[in-house]
Amino acid sequence: MKFADLHLHSHFSDGTFSQEELAGHGVRLGFAALALTDHDSVEGCARMTELCKAAGIVFIPGTELTAEHNDIEVHLLGYFVDMQNQKLLTEIAKFQVVRQNRIREMVARLNELNIPLKAEAVFALANCKSPGRPHVARALVKAGLVANSDEAFRRFLKKNRPAWVPKAKISALEAIELVHQAGGLAIMAHPGLNRTDDMIPALVDAGLDGIECFHTRHSTATSERYLEIADKFHLLVTGGSDCHGFSKGKPLIGRIKLPYEHVEKLFAAKKSRETRGETTNKHE
Ligand code: AMP
Ligand code: ZN
Ligand code: FE
Ligand code: FE
Repeated sequence: MKFADLHLHSHFSDGTFSQEELAGHGVRLGFAALALTDHDSVEGCARMTELCKAAGIVFIPGTELTAEHNDIEVHLLGYFVDMQNQKLLTEIAKFQVVRQNRIREMVARLNELNIPLKAEAVFALANCKSPGRPHVARALVKAGLVANSDEAFRRFLKKNRPAWVPKAKISALEAIELVHQAGGLAIMAHPGLNRTDDMIPALVDAGLDGIECFHTRHSTATSERYLEIADKFHLLVTGGSDCHGFSKGKPLIGRIKLPYEHVEKLFAAKKSRETRGETTNKHE
């Protein structure tokens, strides 16, 4: 049976794997399709396209946007986005600046708590335009200021902890439009991790294309519940590991094996958007 992992992070955001490592794991694990979904970045997609092509793996370029609706955070995956779409690139560049400023603010708060971390240490470790809290956590570990990332999140970085800084977010409705105008499909990521059920009808009205029913942190019951919701709203079904690298000594990629029929439906939906002329898909 053919299967896919449509939620992967690389070192172009807060994943620890390079494109070569991700594609290598994809081959080793026998994946027929992969999607890269770095936070606020499509930078790693070009290399991933080449590597997957050479390996005979179908590749879907993507990104994960942090959005909000009625003050509730929701992550939206954009699949098949045009990597050169000007508006998408402009907006992503803004999100990246927000992320970089937020790192400085988190470090300032840590310093107020007498934790002597330097912003430069975080940027050097992150070595990407889209730094996030995991980079702060890893920099704290590297500097010997905490024992591990879990401790960093628990003590400082989790929501409402002293060094947590809220992030300015795009509205979910605007994010869906941003993905669509870039020729992509907009999917609600890991609904089981956020309090996003109530917003599904509003997002569907705004053109939401699908839900990530299968995710490492969804129980079987949770996945089944979202499969029912997808069915009810005629939404596409996706799934992925949300791999950020190693987890408990093993690469997280491989944990979710999305049946390939869902990938075929994604391609069909993309094609149908194109033929309906709903996407400009120009490098405007
Ligand atoms: P950010 O986009 O900077 O807010 O960081 C979000 C990322 O941090 C998520 O994609 C996860 O990879 C990671 N993360 C969030 N909460 C935790 C947590 N409690 N423990 C470890 N990692 C977390
Ligand atoms: Zn992440
Ligand atoms: Fe997410
Ligand atoms: Fe993710």
